[in-house]
Amino acid sequence: MEKQMQLLWELQGIDAGLDEIRNTQESFAPKLDNIKEDIALLQGAEEEYQGELAAKEVERRDLRDKVEQLKGLIAQSKEKISQIANNKEYFAVLKELEHNQKQLERQDLELTGLVEEIDSIKEQIAENEKELSAKDAEMALEEKAIAAKVATLERKIKSGDRGRKSKTKDLDQTFLRRYQRIRKRFKNAVVAAENGTCLGCNVNVPPQVYIDLLKGQGLMCCPNCQRIMVHRDEASAEKKK
Ligand SMILES: [Zn+2]
Repeated sequence: MEKQMQLLWELQGIDAGLDEIRNTQESFAPKLDNIKEDIALLQGAEEEYQGELAAKEVERRDLRDKVEQLKGLIAQSKEKISQIANNKEYFAVLKELEHNQKQLERQDLELTGLVEEIDSIKEQIAENEKELSAKDAEMALEEKAIAAKVATLERKIKSGDRGRKSKTKDLDQTFLRRYQRIRKRFKNAVVAAENGTCLGCNVNVPPQVYIDLLKGQGLMCCPNCQRIMVHRDEASAEKKK
């Protein structure tokens, strides 16, 4: 009987190790997901910047056309003005000339502002691209590191599974099923009992149950928490191994 309890105790040790390995494996995915999210954000920003840039380039082309047109009109007015004799006509052309010159000044200013905006978008794009390539590199590095870790963990799982088999083949199958059922509720399905107390829930077990446990009378569960109890000596003997 003690042998069976010891096997259960050892099995629990292996299962705890396997749980930890699987938890470690599961922790990798969110890390990669975070980087993927960052990359998606940067790609989205890149698209937005490119769209903005294209729109501004169209605006600039139109504005440049307008400026050229105005320059043409101003040249025409100047040409005309030199050939006018009539006062009334002279002032009309002069007025038009001044109007166009003012318009030209305004549009020149607007064009300068637009060019500055375009330069700033281009800077943002360059900055964004730098961040994006850094994230891509981080992703590649992380994936490589994780692949190496996964390989190590998988080896550990294999060896854990082998250890598990060697324990379960000698275990009473009723005990094993009971252990597995309890383990769905409590990771520590097998607990030590000491001085009449279950160390799983820290509640005193009825004296008769404790005496039976000491005698090794079959599989003893704590009446309070239902965990399988082993006597402290057996538990600590195994721990020292
Ligand atoms: Zn208990």
